[in-house]
Amino acid sequence: MTTTRFAPSPTGYIHVGNLRTALMNHLIARKAGGTFILRIDDTDPERSKQEYVDAIQEDLEWLGLSWDRIERQSDRLARYEAAAQQLRDEGRLYECFETPTELDLKRKKQLNMGKPPVYDRAALALSDAEKEALRAERGNGHWRFKLDHERIEWTDGILGDLSIDAASVSDPVLIRGDGQFLYTPASVCDDIDFGVTHVVRGSDHVTNTATQIQIIKALGGTVPEFAHHSLLTGPQGEALSKRLGTLSLRDLRAAGVEPMALVSLMARLGSSDPVELRADMEAVAEGFDLGHFGSAPTKFDERDLYPLTARVLHEMPLAEVAGDVAAAGVPEALAEEFWAVMRDNITTRKDLAGWWQLCANGAEPVIEDEDRAFVAEAMALLPEGPFDGDTWGNWTKAVKDATGRKGRGLFMPLRKALTGQGHGPDMSALMPLLQVVKARG
Ligand code: GLU
Repeated sequence: MTTTRFAPSPTGYIHVGNLRTALMNHLIARKAGGTFILRIDDTDPERSKQEYVDAIQEDLEWLGLSWDRIERQSDRLARYEAAAQQLRDEGRLYECFETPTELDLKRKKQLNMGKPPVYDRAALALSDAEKEALRAERGNGHWRFKLDHERIEWTDGILGDLSIDAASVSDPVLIRGDGQFLYTPASVCDDIDFGVTHVVRGSDHVTNTATQIQIIKALGGTVPEFAHHSLLTGPQGEALSKRLGTLSLRDLRAAGVEPMALVSLMARLGSSDPVELRADMEAVAEGFDLGHFGSAPTKFDERDLYPLTARVLHEMPLAEVAGDVAAAGVPEALAEEFWAVMRDNITTRKDLAGWWQLCANGAEPVIEDEDRAFVAEAMALLPEGPFDGDTWGNWTKAVKDATGRKGRGLFMPLRKALTGQGHGPDMSALMPLLQVVKARG
């Protein structure tokens, strides 16, 4: 039974980078008919906020990314404590008392001597009496997992065969001095207990995976399949980490990006499969193959979301946008016609309000100097409203006959005079929606 999880920390909104992780795990589970768990990594009580827990769920729901089960790490502290005790009993967890400043100094010394800055395990040599004295002086220590110094190997679902020498990694801290469980022990216990079979996450977790494999084994768990996707960069390959804050799903939603545009792009970006707009999550899952993703950094350009969004809207029935059409001010009687004309001419739903504004109140005419006399003559021939589907054809024919103009020289000045812009919907279709024509003067 395939089980995957998406494990955000509720310390902020989820962004396009997290979305990739969420999608990959979701699609693996969906494709295999397995279970997808939403796991809230909230062992840090200071930074975790309920508003972010709510926001994460809201954002995933907006995307259509459903979960079968939700778990919160803050509900499972007793389990983590039991696991810590098991590791202590096996001699794999030891208490350390170095302050951050002392650790920093050690690291600097090692680096100066050309050595890797790996924790020197000085605390392993402390006697019980020394520990007692340190505890009295500094309070409870933090706890490190004692790695076996061997090569840790796994076949990564994206990166292929990997191996990390455990001796090159510091023994990871699992519990802080104040008793707070860090991400590593909590994640490992959850992956074991929830039967997680596949863990896909960003390549910044590769070293964590090495240590987690040892901890899972020490706790008697089954090691899942791991895969690490490349990190996102900007279009020029620049780091995206600083900008990710502005690429939250909420921001993109507020900018008018459609969920299926986002999902269709992010589920294929960085793979050898083409990005194609899909109608729903099932269709996205169908062609999804983790093995098609590469290890090179994945370039993400927010602008790619807009042509896809426009295409989502072209296909959309009025029922799905009725709220936005009404909010733009369109009277119900005109909604069907308005949407039929506009859906091929907008990039996002946010463009609807501007178009209705134009229809309802008229646009500031744009008239080139050399077209002034021509437009004035044409306006004199424009019939009274209301206009219908034949108005544009009849009118432009009459203007053509009167002025001798034809083609672009005929149509473009009239479009600009009526709409204030050089592009937009088919004029025959737009005319019946125009309530006011400012160019009449
Ligand atoms: N909360 C961790 C993160 O957001 C989860 C990593 C994992 O998938 O194990 O980085």
